[in-house]
This record gives sequence, C-alpha cells and structure tokens, in this order.
Amino acid sequence: MSTSIGVVVTEHIVAGRLSGPLGQQKLVGERLRFPEDPADTESLIGLPTGELYDLLTSLIATLAASSEEPLDAIGIAVPGIVRNGVVEDSPNLAQIKGERMASALGVVLARQGIHAPVYVLNDADAVAAGLAARGGHLDRLIRVWTLGNGIGYGRWPQIDGVWEGGHTVVTLDPKEKFCGCGGLGHVEGIMGNRAMRLRFLDMEPEEVFAAAKAGDQRCRDFVDLWHRALAAATASAIHLGGPGRFYYTGHNIRFLDQNQLRDLLEAMVKMSPLQSYSIELLQTTPSASSAQP
Ligand SMILES: [Zn+2]
Repeated sequence: MSTSIGVVVTEHIVAGRLSGPLGQQKLVGERLRFPEDPADTESLIGLPTGELYDLLTSLIATLAASSEEPLDAIGIAVPGIVRNGVVEDSPNLAQIKGERMASALGVVLARQGIHAPVYVLNDADAVAAGLAARGGHLDRLIRVWTLGNGIGYGRWPQIDGVWEGGHTVVTLDPKEKFCGCGGLGHVEGIMGNRAMRLRFLDMEPEEVFAAAKAGDQRCRDFVDLWHRALAAATASAIHLGGPGRFYYTGHNIRFLDQNQLRDLLEAMVKMSPLQSYSIELLQTTPSASSAQP
C-alpha cells in the first residue's frame, strides 16, 4: 500500500489523495478545488508565487490530515516546460516561470510538518502517465492534448525532450499572432481561450461556438480553423512520433466535434503505416463539466 497526494494546477487547482498498491492507486476521499466555482478560470492568473505555495500547502495539509497513512509522495502537475522539478517556462501561469517548484514547495510544506518528496511535472504528461497506469498500458505510446486556457501536449512513456506540442506551428499566416508565448502561427494561438478572446474581443469562446451553430459565417469559419489547427498539430505528432492512441481532454473538449477532427486527420495523414492511429475524447470530471454553462 502507498498513499500519495496529487495536485493539478491549470486554470484551477484540484487536489486529491490516492491510495492503494503501486500502479493501482485510486482516488479516495474528497477532492479539493480552488476556486470552488469551476466557471472561474481567472483566479490563478497573476496570483503571487508565495501565495500559490501557501494555497497548495493548505490543500495538501488538509488531505494529509484526512488519513492516518504515512504520505509517500506528492505530485504536482503544472502547465509548461518542467524539468527536474524546475518550471523552465509556463506562458499561461507566468509567475511560476523559473521556479524551482519542487524544492521551494518542499520547504513550505516542511514548515507545516509535511516531509514527503515533491515531484513536479507537466500537466499533460501527468494525464498521459495517469492514463497509461490506469489502463495497465505502461508499455504503450500514449499522447494527450489538453484543451483549456492553453493547449497542452503530453506523452507517455516520458522521454527526454521539450514536447511543447501546443506551440506546433500550424499556419504560415503572419496575422496568426495570438499565442500566449508570442510565437507566430501556433496551435495555441488559434485554440487557446486567451487567443480566442484576443481574436473576437467582444465574444467569449462559448459565444463564438454558439454563434457558429446559429449560422454566423465568421464564427463558422473560425470553428473550422479551430478544428483544422488541432488536426494539423495531431498530424504533425503522427508524422514525427508515429501512430498510436491520442486522447483529447480539458475544459474545451466541449467544443470538439470528433467526426470533423477524424475527417480532417484522414485528409492530412496519407502514408499507410501511419494510419493506425486512434483518437478518443476524455470527458473531464462530471462535477466540473455539469457546472459549466
Ligand atoms: Zn506559442
């Protein structure tokens, strides 16, 4: 038996306690969330790092106190480039860029009497690792796209590399400049929430997709571009890493038309040894999605 605490930091913080034999751990007890309203996606943007560590520590301390079991590990998943516990860059959570997060958080936790080792990894990599472990497919290549404020790309098995798939260039149009990292033509510059708000200024992403359904031509064109961007980034991943299973998850898969994505991918991947890929949409937790407008 082992007990660990997993914390995912994206637009929200969600923390839970896991227990069970290694490789078969399951979430036990309640999940803690900040902010409590899942529709609030702005609370963490600009929150000073010290306050973020205090917040994480209070969530972890609450979960640790809910069990008698000794705590073996704490895993923190954050968006961005993370190597050896250091957040090298994080365009959508800019305050943690350069943070030695694993050791800094470890110090704050130790002050509260919590001494378990802290591991920090990329959020999409964490999803891929979790999926691989859950399905018992630790030997199989799994890739995950997370669609939210930013576009995350994760893979299992973890191998050395940067894997910033959300910044895959999918268009040569010089007007496509809305990516949070500042780069031209990136998939996140089309699909990310921030990018969609910059493009439409007076419309929220959900309003854009609703207007497209209602027949608005500009919005329909954009929804088409949005799907093309994801298909292009996925096709590039297939052409570089080979076929395999792709999962799509995150708050914004509510906008994703799986058939449209499938049709676009078919048009983009033509070499027969590469056509054995598969795609699957992974709904976020029911409690989170049911509260969405
Ligand atoms: Zn970018």
